[in-house]
Amino acid sequence: MKKTISTSSLRALVAEAYDQVKSATGGANADYIPYLANVPSDLFGIALCLPNGELIEAGDTDYVFGIESISKVHTAVLVLRQSGADELLAKIGADATGLPFNSIMAILLEKDHPSTPLVNSGAISACSLVKPVGNADAKWQAIVDNMTDLCGSPLVLQQELYKSETATNFNNKSIAWLLKNYNRIYDDPDMSLDLYTRQCSMGVTARQLAVAGCTIASYGMNPVTKQQVFPSALAPKIVALIAAVGFYEHTGDWMYTSGIPAKTGVGGGIMGVLPGGFGIAAFAPPLDDAGNSVKAQLAIKYITQHLGVNVYGGDSIEITA
Ligand code: GLU
Repeated sequence: MKKTISTSSLRALVAEAYDQVKSATGGANADYIPYLANVPSDLFGIALCLPNGELIEAGDTDYVFGIESISKVHTAVLVLRQSGADELLAKIGADATGLPFNSIMAILLEKDHPSTPLVNSGAISACSLVKPVGNADAKWQAIVDNMTDLCGSPLVLQQELYKSETATNFNNKSIAWLLKNYNRIYDDPDMSLDLYTRQCSMGVTARQLAVAGCTIASYGMNPVTKQQVFPSALAPKIVALIAAVGFYEHTGDWMYTSGIPAKTGVGGGIMGVLPGGFGIAAFAPPLDDAGNSVKAQLAIKYITQHLGVNVYGGDSIEITA
């Protein structure tokens, strides 16, 4: 069914979602990265970005938090921009692992590539593929510039988070070297891991994530800067990656209940994409057992369910002024 919704009704819906969800309890901050354990647990924000660049926000949408695994989407976009869809599929893959984000088992079970750039192994592999191979500084600059392009404004490295994560990323170190063992990493493993750790430690706001989500929803056109960040033909590829594994081993449940592809991060953020519709982000630090923000999930679902939107065949909405 085609539905028309005014921007003011959407504004009211976002405010209602915020009110309904703000006192939800449950979950706990990620504590395996010490820095994240100390972020105030009661922060909560929702931001929705429309293709005309208009932002609809409630709560703590300008609080800067660790982007963490949402950065995997950004760097997957960079690899797609630099090397194309075929190369990403051949060197990394686009399959869900069905296992937790940092699974070593998933690497052992895969025959020839790490599965997807949206789990830790594939994300480290994606960092290894970023060009120019062999030049850490230039690779980092490419990663940062691409994040800025998608978010429409610069992100800032959170040095404390980077230090905290570097001091404790033993599992990711094992992943990087296991990938090396199987020829599934395409640059120096330690350098690739460091780039991954740094990208996860970038500070971002829910507002910036909503803009990045809307850039993907708008087929590569950043709604705020009007820059065509990536060729429109790559949009379905990135949406397919997110839809397959954005919530790791719980992606099926998420797609079934929310109807839209979204990517989570253990910093408490979630970035959702309704292709042709809007970008949406929510942020609240307490996570469920699978490492996904409790309130951010509830908030995004509240909005998608009330709108009836669903990439598998829900209502199509036209947003009017
Ligand atoms: N930097 C985190 C890690 O590699 C990201 C995990 C996540 O956000 O899912 O453990």
